[in-house]
Amino acid sequence: MKAPAAGDAVVPEPLVRLRGHHLICLQFFRGEGYSEDFVENLTAALSRLENEPATVVEGADDVCAACPSLSADGLCVSDEAGGEDEIRLLDALALEGLGVGPGDEVRMTEVRTVLAEDGKLVARWRSVACEGCEWARVCESGWERLGR
Ligand code: SF4
Repeated sequence: MKAPAAGDAVVPEPLVRLRGHHLICLQFFRGEGYSEDFVENLTAALSRLENEPATVVEGADDVCAACPSLSADGLCVSDEAGGEDEIRLLDALALEGLGVGPGDEVRMTEVRTVLAEDGKLVARWRSVACEGCEWARVCESGWERLGR
């Protein structure tokens, strides 16, 4: 590959693409995940998200991209998560609660602020999304840090 030379246009890397429920759930990541590749990919994405916004997308995102439960046609087939239809309901709930939609750019710190301030959203989220989630135990300390 040719090294960039002075005057070459620098094409910026696209922003990390996140689906709705990941805006909330990734706040609580503690290094655990579905596979080594998944954790590595997610760690890299979260590192970028410390300094730049995510682009909100519908359906599979850059986190799903390294997930063993993503089918070849781009759908979530996780039994534990309930599959693509259930996941899309959670995406919609998160987007509605956060007041954002596909195409918007959102910083994880902005999401954190909403979660710290909006008790109604958190109560709804925890009863609908966290109830029965296999990762709920991982998130407990994170909710406490947010005062929830
Ligand atoms: S379980 Fe489903 S929604 Fe979650 S990262 Fe994997 S493919 Fe995406």
